[in-house]
Amino acid sequence: MTERRPTPGIEEFCAEATELLGTDGVIRDPAAREKASCDWAHMSPILSARLPAGHAEAVLRPTAHEQIPGILALAHRHRIPLTPRGKGTGNYGQAIPLYDGAVLDLTGCGRILDAGDGWIRAEAGARMSDLEGHARTLGQELWMFPSTFGTTVGGFLSGGSGGTGSLVHKTNSDGFVQELTVVPCTADAEPFTVQDAEALPYIHAYGTTGIIATATVRLQRARTWTGLFAAFADWASATAALSALVRLEPAPRLASLDEAGLVGVYRPDPALDPTALSVRAIIEEEAVEQARAIVRSHGGSVLDIRPAPDGPALISSMSFNHPTYHLMTAEDGWFHLEIGGDVLLGDTTEIRKVFPDTLLHLEGMRSGTVGMLMARYQDEQTVYAGTAALEALGVRVHSPHNWYVDRRLDLVRETALTADPLGLLNPGKIPATSQETP
Ligand SMILES: Cc1cc2nc3c(=O)[nH]c(=O)nc-3n(C[C@H](O)[C@H](O)[C@H](O)COP(=O)(O)OP(=O)(O)OC[C@H]3O[C@@H](n4cnc5c(N)ncnc54)[C@H](O)[C@@H]3O)c2cc1C
Repeated sequence: MTERRPTPGIEEFCAEATELLGTDGVIRDPAAREKASCDWAHMSPILSARLPAGHAEAVLRPTAHEQIPGILALAHRHRIPLTPRGKGTGNYGQAIPLYDGAVLDLTGCGRILDAGDGWIRAEAGARMSDLEGHARTLGQELWMFPSTFGTTVGGFLSGGSGGTGSLVHKTNSDGFVQELTVVPCTADAEPFTVQDAEALPYIHAYGTTGIIATATVRLQRARTWTGLFAAFADWASATAALSALVRLEPAPRLASLDEAGLVGVYRPDPALDPTALSVRAIIEEEAVEQARAIVRSHGGSVLDIRPAPDGPALISSMSFNHPTYHLMTAEDGWFHLEIGGDVLLGDTTEIRKVFPDTLLHLEGMRSGTVGMLMARYQDEQTVYAGTAALEALGVRVHSPHNWYVDRRLDLVRETALTADPLGLLNPGKIPATSQETP
């Protein structure tokens, strides 16, 4: 890692942070700093060309959320850039410390604090899988979790969007959050709580509007889920079946579609036929016969009904951005775009002409279809030109090749003015008004 000029005051900051966290809580070791300076931005060839894009001069590891305000007050006093981090799996460089300084690794703050009917409260570094596991002991389950199931609740709320459960509950900005305790980067760093819609400026804001110390998220009654794996010969039948599965009652937790070129990159499994399109859904056990009838009526075949935990877990692990991960692991030279729109359910001939070797993965949602487009990477300009061409065809495109906050930007800017008046929290992620792409 190339060393740059140290941030003025970093040594004094680290010395005082050691008083707060102990020697184990302030890590200066180069390997740990390098690890804390990366996330999954390398999934984007455009961002990869800009890496390394900043380096952690220290990694701070609090072990309880009560330690967070002291660290933020210290960062404010010494003017040290501070980039929060969960498991570091964000795929737009969201957790990269672009302006160096310290990385605040929250994975040590992993306690589940409390739970009741319809809610669970945890420290920001608690893993989504632990929240789901705890909820299940109470006969409940999370509204949603990402395909990166072991990531932190703070990271998922601050950097993620949705996942298993979003078929019904939409994104993590649509009622999933009941309450957050947020710590601002101010002189007194006094934590405050926000509830329901008040939480919006802190969701998907990459930590630029304050550090989430604890989160209370919504639960629902636990269902008995099972995994349906089906194969189809053509796009029209597969997408028609996907749409019908999305409308199934009781509602599925997830419904995904991959074309054959993607199925071939997964670990071989009798439930996945690499010569056919794959439609998979996490459905309630009582809906199995209805789901079988949907598959049959659209000319498909059911390859497996695999109960929990294995069936639903496998289907979740192949959802959202995981097909991209599997493809890129199997072969170099690909890029991806996050796409949406029900136009994807129809004839995709023109869409496939935009980029060479296009592969499509779809997620069925009651609020509309989303998915991933993967294609051979040529160069940055071709990606931007192709994005415009896709939009002209009615495809919504969200670029994963950009580390700027791009949701509710005005609200985030306004909130950051008071939550982080010195601009120390994850600096470089709120674009200047004149600058919208990296
Ligand atoms: C293969 C793959 C599949 C993925 N699938 C999904 C998916 O299904 N759905 C989805 O939404 N995302 C997905 N992602 C993106 C990412 O994995 C998730 O959003 C994940 O939940 C992020 O959690 P994390 O703990 O890794 O957070 P990090 O990556 O560490 O952090 C994410 C962002 O939040 C900030 N942050 C972290 N903790 C806090 C905090 N306590 N307070 C304030 N800011 C904080 C960080 O600075 C960063 O900007 C995927 C990524 C990959 C690589």
